[in-house]
Amino acid sequence: MVPLLDLKAQYQAIKSELDAAVIHVLENAQFILGPEVAAFEKEFAAHVDAREAIGLNSGTSALHLALLAAGVGPGDEVITVPFTFVATAAAIVYTGATPVFVDIDPVTYNIDVTQIEAAITPRTRAILPVHLFGQPADMDPIMEIARRHGIVVIEDAAQSHGAEYKGRRAGSIGDMACFSFYPAKNLGACGEGGAVTTNNPDYAKKIRILRDWGSEKKYVHDVKGYNYRLEGIQGAILRVKLRHLEDWTNLRRAHADRYAQLLAGCPIQLPHAASYARHVYHVYTIRAANRDRLRDELLKRDIHSGIHYPIPIHLQPAYADLNYGPGSFPVAEQACTEVLALPIYPELTGAQLCEVADAVSQSCALIADQSVRMA
Ligand SMILES: *Cc1c(COP(=O)(O)O)cnc(C)c1O
Repeated sequence: MVPLLDLKAQYQAIKSELDAAVIHVLENAQFILGPEVAAFEKEFAAHVDAREAIGLNSGTSALHLALLAAGVGPGDEVITVPFTFVATAAAIVYTGATPVFVDIDPVTYNIDVTQIEAAITPRTRAILPVHLFGQPADMDPIMEIARRHGIVVIEDAAQSHGAEYKGRRAGSIGDMACFSFYPAKNLGACGEGGAVTTNNPDYAKKIRILRDWGSEKKYVHDVKGYNYRLEGIQGAILRVKLRHLEDWTNLRRAHADRYAQLLAGCPIQLPHAASYARHVYHVYTIRAANRDRLRDELLKRDIHSGIHYPIPIHLQPAYADLNYGPGSFPVAEQACTEVLALPIYPELTGAQLCEVADAVSQSCALIADQSVRMA
């Protein structure tokens, strides 16, 4: 059996370091924010090559507070993609603003930068590109359009810790960037966690105040804030894991290269790393016309796979009030019917990887053979 992800293997590999870090917090009893979170913020900012990082209790909270810090509110529009995790759009709605979707590029699955300009209106306050599956969006044209229109860019970097765009780290390019430390992400806590990174001290200050009940001084509330603080234990765990992230990223990239060699002959589309990108393969997404049959065949061979994402946000029941219908974003809609994620994680062994690749090859051959006989 090969799972899509194996968090137990990761724990076993660094158990003594993690156990010591957690016990240290238990003994010091600094459970909310505190010195471990402060140290993690410094180390994570350095990793991203941003001036500041603000630790938060989830990636969703990071998106919410980044949007609020940018002044996004009721009546405003924020441009993003319909092919992403629902949190991207949900956070926009939390502020009272409206998500305005732009279709994706069929090869990178990231925002189609040629369609952004047409979506801008006098109400547009921000562009929220998503660095999907571990590959940065094409940031240069996005920044250029945003500067020309005087709007803010917030990167959704929840899937791309350590990724690069033209040699610059994801999370250091926009006005702000949002990371998630959900356990399954490339850098994951043992619970919920997130962060905003920014080079702008004003945004950083606003977010620090908003995450802690809108107060700088205890029991004095200057603005209406939230309880979005990162926990001490998560900060300590993230400090340990951050030290391993670069090695883990290199392993993910090596696994992706190996998959590309082994799957070269299959009638499927492999992930494309843009020439500008250091792709960190949070998800290894292939594309197949017979996706659902391929998935069934893989499962028969005990290979687990995933679908990110089966339904674009504009066709989700919860977002019907945005009044988009089927056909609004054809590239995203087609991707939803064809994408399939194969197991990828640093601890994936060479034998497991070959098992997955063999199963994909056999399944593709079987499906092709059956469709020939049916024709
Ligand atoms: C995981 C994720 C989020 C939300 O992060 P949480 O920590 O789960 O709240 C936001 N955007 C994208 C693209 C994600 O993958």
